[in-house]
Amino acid sequence: MKAYIPERLRDLVLTRANGRCEYCLLHQDNEPAYSHEIDHVIAEKHLGETLAHNLAYACFYCNRFKGTDLTSIDPLTNQITPLYNPRTQSWSEQFALDGPEIVPLTGIGRTTVRLLQMNRPRIIQRRIYLIQLGYYPSPFTPALFHHHPATAAASLRNGPTRLLVNPRPQFYHLSAQ
Ligand SMILES: [Zn+2]
Repeated sequence: MKAYIPERLRDLVLTRANGRCEYCLLHQDNEPAYSHEIDHVIAEKHLGETLAHNLAYACFYCNRFKGTDLTSIDPLTNQITPLYNPRTQSWSEQFALDGPEIVPLTGIGRTTVRLLQMNRPRIIQRRIYLIQLGYYPSPFTPALFHHHPATAAASLRNGPTRLLVNPRPQFYHLSAQ
């Protein structure tokens, strides 16, 4: 059974994530069909606690594909490998963005990208569209863009100012907190 997550804790998780899925970086405002959810990074069935340090903001799709799993098979090495933990690991050490594609940089990255189907054709199409609008990733991820040569190159191709433009009032809302 799913633990009750108090409103205040939900707000903290959402605000901490700036409204973005902490796995695929899709902003809640850019997902019309399903609400983002609160993910137990370590699922409750594995004794993960309902506390801020074990919760992440996740889009419907990432949360469904992840389920209660903690590990999966690295498609390169065939080894059992942990999934990405957004509370203890840095996104930009495990993944990079190359245009609309999430490029895994490590075994953890490969395992997570595969299990969560982070580059399925449909979501790539969505990201291409959002990138054109300047909505992907949302403007609160400047640090992601300069850690990896591929992403730095992508950000140059797309124009660096695009990432700083904030065309949606909701974003100001979140940043003011
Ligand atoms: Zn996601």
